[in-house]
Amino acid sequence: MVVSGFTNKERPMPTLIDSHCHIDFPQFDESRQDILADCRQKGMSAIVVPGVSCDQWRGMAELVASINADATDAPRLLPAYGLHPYFMTKHDAKHLDQLDAQLDNGAIAVGEIGLDAFETDKDLPQQMALFRRQLSIAANHHLPIIVHARKTQDLVLKLVRESGFAAGGIMHAFSGSLQQAQRLHEMGFLIGFGGAATYDRARRLRSLLKQLPQDAIVFETDAPDIPPSFSRTRANSPLNLFRIVEILADVREEPVAELWQFSSKNLIKLFNLST
Ligand SMILES: [Zn+2]
Repeated sequence: MVVSGFTNKERPMPTLIDSHCHIDFPQFDESRQDILADCRQKGMSAIVVPGVSCDQWRGMAELVASINADATDAPRLLPAYGLHPYFMTKHDAKHLDQLDAQLDNGAIAVGEIGLDAFETDKDLPQQMALFRRQLSIAANHHLPIIVHARKTQDLVLKLVRESGFAAGGIMHAFSGSLQQAQRLHEMGFLIGFGGAATYDRARRLRSLLKQLPQDAIVFETDAPDIPPSFSRTRANSPLNLFRIVEILADVREEPVAELWQFSSKNLIKLFNLST
């Protein structure tokens, strides 16, 4: 998978990658082409697009193929496929066989998968079983995972460790402790930061962002979800990533260009992308 860089004479310019964005969702139907063209023009080279349910993969795969066919006008879309824990009622055991086949369609990861106990933990046993199965599918395909964990950081850590899964991945929209983040990083995971850390009141998250080393961090919008502080009443968009990273650069007291550079480098390494 090639992510084309932007060149300025001989020297490649740093580019930005949105490590988590649902650009295939219907909220973007009217504005998708314009948003993608603006993202590309401002220096975004790629967007990781995670799958959520079996009935959504096909449309997502078609969108990815059509956008990537003419990547001069949009960031390259990097697809992942998975069964999201939030949509348990949609999933079926046979979807796991379909996932196995779908991954051969240029997937860079299995995701988004994980555990969600935010509203209820009633179906947590079923979520855990589904997560375990998807971990083993990812291991068979030698693919990293994109993990959604709400109120379940320790449980996710435990299941990943028990499974012996070693291909790493991204803990998206991370909200755990420094200790959990460090343990995950040791296990080959990158920690995803986005809109939530743009709020001044997010002190714990900001202090975590400040304490982690550069090689542990990636950035994301999770658009259309998680609107940042500067656009809280509107649906989120991958275009917001530029401003989000500026704010997070202030938090880390590092130059913005450095954040573009190290986060892209981390993703290129994790997904084995060529530039
Ligand atoms: Zn997501």
